[in-house]
Amino acid sequence: MRSEKKILLIYTGGTIGSVHDPMTGSLVPIDFSQITRHVPELNRAGISIDSVSFQPPIDSSNVSPMHWKKIAGVVMQKHEEYDGFVVLHGTDTMAYTASALSFMLEGLRKPVIITGSQLPIGMPRTDGRENLLSAVMLAAHSTHERPASTSLQCGDSTVQEVAVYFGSQLFRGNRTHKESTESLHAIVSPNYPALVDAGVDFKVRKHNLYRAPEGPLTLHEAFDSKVAWLPIFPGMSFDVFDRIFGWNELRGVVLGTYGSGNIPDNKQFKDLLISAQKRGVSIVNITQCGHGGVAQERYATGLMLSDCGVISGGDMTTEAAVIKLMMLLGESDDLTLIRERISADLRGERTNLE
Ligand code: ASP
Repeated sequence: MRSEKKILLIYTGGTIGSVHDPMTGSLVPIDFSQITRHVPELNRAGISIDSVSFQPPIDSSNVSPMHWKKIAGVVMQKHEEYDGFVVLHGTDTMAYTASALSFMLEGLRKPVIITGSQLPIGMPRTDGRENLLSAVMLAAHSTHERPASTSLQCGDSTVQEVAVYFGSQLFRGNRTHKESTESLHAIVSPNYPALVDAGVDFKVRKHNLYRAPEGPLTLHEAFDSKVAWLPIFPGMSFDVFDRIFGWNELRGVVLGTYGSGNIPDNKQFKDLLISAQKRGVSIVNITQCGHGGVAQERYATGLMLSDCGVISGGDMTTEAAVIKLMMLLGESDDLTLIRERISADLRGERTNLE
């Protein structure tokens, strides 16, 4: 049996692989070969590492479903050949890409670990070296206990989902959010505990790990971009929403509501929601709060949304909700099915209490 694990690094760009452009002073992505030069320890980890790179690498502000299809396509194509995948990605949209890949790769049983950094890998205080090394080591990490499920073998990958490694913690990808432009712990998971804490050792919290239900690895790659994300604020003019809801191609809306999912008691707004919903627009309620979730029935101002046909997004992050909606709308126009699947926990992205 082969003992050395094989990991494929997929370099997309971001700060981790950036240098200062001498002309403008701003950060621009560099070639992948220059990144590994800064982390010679990768050669001493006892792991066989290959790499593929976006040509050219991108700032993650430019990421789109086309890039997600590229990454997921590589994972599908190389799935048998490698034990795990590490995706190097900018932090700005890391949570969106993590959500997208988690929904795209149904039945995944190998690690796809996304990481990046706040400081370029060539800088003395960079967080990129530790993030990259630990992400690779976690992608190669395997379980030595006999797992409860009979379908799993001793030696199988510990992580079998799309995850994000950042600031000494591994998180479920579709639970993450970029919280800080400053901190080296920029990525957080507000509603789900870390999967692994990386201190002196990797402390694996095995009860938090995701295990896909039985079934083959299946790629979902249709996204519908006719979706809007609309946060509300006191004193706003609902005429703005009138324009957006008036777009006759609109298919989905994620509403950014107050507290446990509340909106102002405003007739113009309610009428807009009801008529959009009747036209077939799927509307999902996500709180603006950084932690917790929507409980639409808690206040009269939230209950109104249930009456307007708005679907509770529970404790999903905005990133996960937007991407999930884009994917479900890309795959179907059966409104009952979309409603059911938004409310369901597809890849560990929402907590549904029994
Ligand atoms: N603008 C960069 C990006 O997202 C920021 C980063 O990587 O931290 O690509």
